[in-house]
Amino acid sequence: MIADNIRGVKERIAKICAKAGRDPAQITIVAISKNRSADEVEEAIGAGITDVGENKLQEARLKADSRNLRAVRWHMVGHLQSNKVKDALNLFDLIHSVDSEELAQEIDKQAAKINKVQDILIQVNTSGEESKFGLRPAALNETFLVIKALKNVRIVGLMTIAPLVDDPEKVRLYFRRLKELRDKVINLRLTTYDLRLSMGMSDDFEVAIEEGADIVRIGRAIYD
Ligand SMILES: *Cc1c(COP(=O)(O)O)cnc(C)c1O
Repeated sequence: MIADNIRGVKERIAKICAKAGRDPAQITIVAISKNRSADEVEEAIGAGITDVGENKLQEARLKADSRNLRAVRWHMVGHLQSNKVKDALNLFDLIHSVDSEELAQEIDKQAAKINKVQDILIQVNTSGEESKFGLRPAALNETFLVIKALKNVRIVGLMTIAPLVDDPEKVRLYFRRLKELRDKVINLRLTTYDLRLSMGMSDDFEVAIEEGADIVRIGRAIYD
């Protein structure tokens, strides 16, 4: 079942990549595994998943420890509180949800203690919905520079969470906005890193890929 779902998702990605002139090998699928059991995560990994995402630190740690699932890459996609940073660094390869200088500074401080350079994405609130975390687009460039100066943090891309809507076409503009923000950062030479875009979920990953997503975060389409 999970294996069939993964095959289906990969086929859909291959199809949309062919249409968009993109290479499917360059798209990372993160299997969002919140509220799923360690058994299910193990099944997904057995079916070829290499990247697992969670939105709660505690839940991720229980799963990773219970099954020795550490061989895959772990992604933190939920809001991260400062007091949980220290533990998060021990588990996550990529933190998608850095949305303030303060949080980045805490990550830098804790990462320095364990000699880690933590890869992060900066989360941007492209829709402006009040319920969403993320930087205001207008604040991105300035915050980017402040965070970039931190030695134990490496910004490898940007992330956004689109609003929930019935029609994926309605969120295309938010994905496009994130790509435009990324292109601006690159054009202003704020970094030489080839920044990646984390955007798109079960209902809208095809639109996100058309708009330039490099990392798609997929839960229901894999596990349901
Ligand atoms: C749950 C979640 C997803 C996956 O959502 P699905 O609709 O189940 O694919 C992606 N990103 C974040 C941040 C999430 O919390």
